[in-house]
Amino acid sequence: MSNIITKENYPYAFNQDACATCEGRCCTGESGYIYVSKDEIFKIAELLNLSVNDFGVKYLFKHGYKYSIKEIKHENSHECIFYDRESNGCKIYKARPSQCITFPFWDYFKTHIDELKEECPGIVDD
Ligand code: SF4
Ligand code: SF4
Repeated sequence: MSNIITKENYPYAFNQDACATCEGRCCTGESGYIYVSKDEIFKIAELLNLSVNDFGVKYLFKHGYKYSIKEIKHENSHECIFYDRESNGCKIYKARPSQCITFPFWDYFKTHIDELKEECPGIVDD
């Protein structure tokens, strides 16, 4: 069965099957920002059974006026602090931020498909 997803106005499609073998390239690699909204902060803190304050101190940093999830260094790469190398999954999957849920359908990638293809092996031509 095909697991190809398309989205209106996006010039590419996404094959979800690629996630099984790609080793979380969207959660690892170059350093970046994983932004979380106020609502998302509350949800993740609740999932982790932490107060919002404790969660923020342990897992977030401020970038401009936004908050981003911290990364850790692994060899020559960076990875989201919630990336689970053992299971190739997300430790906060049920409450992962919208930025993660909507990947790879981000406005930015509409005009940067080559960059996206380098990062995500699931991208296919529509
Ligand atoms: S980079 Fe693409 S294929 Fe790999 S886990 Fe992320 S969405 Fe799936
Ligand atoms: S929150 Fe989860 S899905 Fe998002 S970058 Fe981190 S590990 Fe990946």
